[in-house]
Amino acid sequence: MASSSTSTTGRVGKSRRKVVLVRRPSRGEQYEGRRRYCYNILLAPRWTLWSEGNPGRRFYRCRNYYQDGGCGYFEWHDGGFGERENEVIKELLNDIDNLYEENSHLRRGDACPKWYEELVALEREVLKMKSEHLLKDSEVKKVHCKFKLALATLLLTWVLLLLMYLSG
Ligand SMILES: [Zn+2]
Repeated sequence: MASSSTSTTGRVGKSRRKVVLVRRPSRGEQYEGRRRYCYNILLAPRWTLWSEGNPGRRFYRCRNYYQDGGCGYFEWHDGGFGERENEVIKELLNDIDNLYEENSHLRRGDACPKWYEELVALEREVLKMKSEHLLKDSEVKKVHCKFKLALATLLLTWVLLLLMYLSG
C-alpha cells in the first residue's frame, strides 16, 4: 500500500495545535495484537495518525521509516472512519486546543490583569505605609530622647542651685 504523507514533527491544522500528526505509541501498544512484519521481515510498529483526513486512525509502517525511509511497508490497522466519526474526533481535537489555549492564558495571568494590578497596587500601598510608620516611630523616639535630656539638664541645674544656696 502506498504511504500517506505524514510527519513526526508537523502539527494538524493551525500551528498552535498541540496534537502531533503521528503519535509515537508506548512500547506496549506498539506491538499489541496480531504482529505485522515489513518487507525486510522486521516487526512493524503501530502508529496513530492525527491528520485532518484521518484523525486517530492507526497504521503499521516499517520501523526504519523515520530514520532512512525504510523498506516502504505501510498498512492500515483501522478501516477508514466515517465522516461523522472524523467530525467528532476533529471537534474533540479543537476542544483540546481551546483548553491548551485557555490554560496558557491563565498561566500568563491574561484572564485576570485587573485584580492582579489591584493586588500589586495594594502591596505598594502597604510597603509605603510601613516605611512611613517606621519614619514616624523614629521621630517619636528622637523627641522622647530630647525630652529626657532636657529633664536631666533641668534637674542638674536645680541641684546645683540648691547646693549653691546651702553653701552660701
Ligand atoms: Zn522495513
